Amino acid sequence: MRRKIAIICDFDGTIARRDIGHEFFGEYVSDKERWKRLLNEWKIGLISSRECLTEEIAMLEADTKGLDSFIEKELFDPYFTDFVDFCNTQKYEIEILSDGLDYYIDYLLMKFGLGFIGFKANHLVHDNGEIRGVEFPYYNSMNCEMCGNCKRKHVENLREDGFLVVYVGNGYSDRCPAKYSDMVFAKADLLSYCEDKKIEHIPFANFRDVEREFSARYKI
Ligand SMILES: [Mg+2]
Ligand SMILES: [Zn+2]
Repeated sequence: MRRKIAIICDFDGTIARRDIGHEFFGEYVSDKERWKRLLNEWKIGLISSRECLTEEIAMLEADTKGLDSFIEKELFDPYFTDFVDFCNTQKYEIEILSDGLDYYIDYLLMKFGLGFIGFKANHLVHDNGEIRGVEFPYYNSMNCEMCGNCKRKHVENLREDGFLVVYVGNGYSDRCPAKYSDMVFAKADLLSYCEDKKIEHIPFANFRDVEREFSARYKI
């Protein structure tokens, strides 16, 4: 019998063309100097993405209407919908894991008719249009102190369930799962990281590359 296959995709900068959270904070945080210091502390590993995101939300001067109009312009990788069709035809599980916010992932998946795809992300708390804070339903400091929603644990669970895990990502939050996945598709920062750490990976530019390379390796 053919092995069960799970394709795990990062969201920001992988499915969505931009890093939405990052770009949004860049636009709506008023104290830019403080924000840049915060990001620097995060980049060098002094604070976790949980601490960083909590602080960013606290510094935010926007409501959900502002967020809606910001994400309204967002585009997906032009081949992502075709890729989802391909996964469905082949009976591969496809799931999104994000250390960003559920709010815009949900919004955009619905907008592009892909609301059936499961995702796990951090939770933006809001009511009556006001942004109140952020919660971390998947936070697990036992496994990782650097992420808010560490993707490594989700990948390990899938492997324990017998899945061959294919990971597709571009950035910092993809470092933890990359080491534990069976096959890694990498671009941008994740690509440099995999090269540095000698993690086996396949470079990609878009989801058509992922489909083609995966099919070639699996002789579909
Ligand atoms: Mg990303
Ligand atoms: Zn982690």
